[in-house]
Amino acid sequence: MEEKTFIILKPDCMEKKLLPVVMAKFLNAGLDIVACKMSQLDEKILAEHYAHIVDKPFYPPLVAYMTRKPVIMAILKGDNAVLRVRKLLGCTNSLEAPAGTIRGEYGVDTRENVVHASDSPENAKIEIARFFDKAEIFG
Ligand code: ADP
Repeated sequence: MEEKTFIILKPDCMEKKLLPVVMAKFLNAGLDIVACKMSQLDEKILAEHYAHIVDKPFYPPLVAYMTRKPVIMAILKGDNAVLRVRKLLGCTNSLEAPAGTIRGEYGVDTRENVVHASDSPENAKIEIARFFDKAEIFG
């Protein structure tokens, strides 16, 4: 089933200039970019995006990490896009992510894990609406 998912190329991804490597993995998997923009995230939008972990002890350093450099956000479209992109990422802890996955290859630890991707079709819809206007989506 064709669906859309939302991704963020996180500050470590930007610092290490991994955009071409990461985007190639998504495009080579047959996914299409239907929206893309650069943004400086702030505490307010992160408190919404990370509402499920805002009370965790690792939340303040997560905000420092996510705000330390502008990020690139995109919407990818394709068959089963949500699950397929999550599989390309690997699990949250980069040290446990399998070799060949984006986090397994390029992530540092549980926090600095290169790319965010929506974890369900429902959350993909919410995140797309949070970060993109309809006029910015081309497909
Ligand atoms: P995911 O991004 O894999 O969906 P979560 O939604 O659980 O994972 O967490 C959001 C982000 O918060 C993670 O990608 C990571 O950057 C950070 N994070 C999650 N758990 C931890 C942790 N135990 N310690 C430090 N940072 C964490």
